[in-house]
Amino acid sequence: MPEGDTIHNTAARLRPALEGAVLQAFEAKRLRGHRARPGMRIESVGAVGKHLLIGFERNLVLHTHMQMKGSWHLVAAGSRWPKPAHLARVVLEVADWQAVCFSAPVVETYVVGHDPDPTAHLGPDLCDERPDLAAGVERFVLVDEGTEIGPALLDQRVVAGIGNVYKSEVLHACGVDPFAAIETIDVGTRRRLVETAHRQLRMILGRARRETVPGGLAVYGRANRPCRICGSGVRVSRQGDHARATYWCPRCQVPPGNER
Ligand SMILES: [Zn+2]
Repeated sequence: MPEGDTIHNTAARLRPALEGAVLQAFEAKRLRGHRARPGMRIESVGAVGKHLLIGFERNLVLHTHMQMKGSWHLVAAGSRWPKPAHLARVVLEVADWQAVCFSAPVVETYVVGHDPDPTAHLGPDLCDERPDLAAGVERFVLVDEGTEIGPALLDQRVVAGIGNVYKSEVLHACGVDPFAAIETIDVGTRRRLVETAHRQLRMILGRARRETVPGGLAVYGRANRPCRICGSGVRVSRQGDHARATYWCPRCQVPPGNER
């Protein structure tokens, strides 16, 4: 699953080409909702959590969610697409550009003020400059208290934007055991996790390479290699309903109550 920073970077790439432009063609074979029509002006391109929202005049918004495989690409008019045409889910054409969305499982439109907002359930977006972090800390109550903190950080109802990479990185940076149940994690630690995730996600916006420690990532993708803090071997386990990989250091990240 892409992290929130991927979607925010996508929005930043699409925005200069699309915002204010007039739609010349719109294709979306499996679209749910009203179709945008040629001649409509594109008013906004934005990201909320991991959702990409493209706003047209008359309050029509195109909502796409990338889940594991989806991606948006900006292609100069007349150039080749980076992926096969049969994978295209949306094509937006303006004077000089085509914006093409490949493989996204969620492609729908809604009308602001009329249809339900598909992002209404999300917690504060940690990629924003000043999200309400205190509200995010409080929203851990939305998760069953027996849930392990690893999967809980991926729950976008609590805070939006953390994906599998930052889940592992944030827990390591805070010295928190990924397998500890939410109920064992005190409010100060919850606050530190949310603040650290915000800082790490903000740091990476607009950059091509993810770095949480000098030289790269602290634990993610580094199974069996030495922890950059203590030198112990980094471990990896599957965790949560979707069996997502969690990387952690058994020495730096001990269960609550066993801290040294
Ligand atoms: Zn360590």
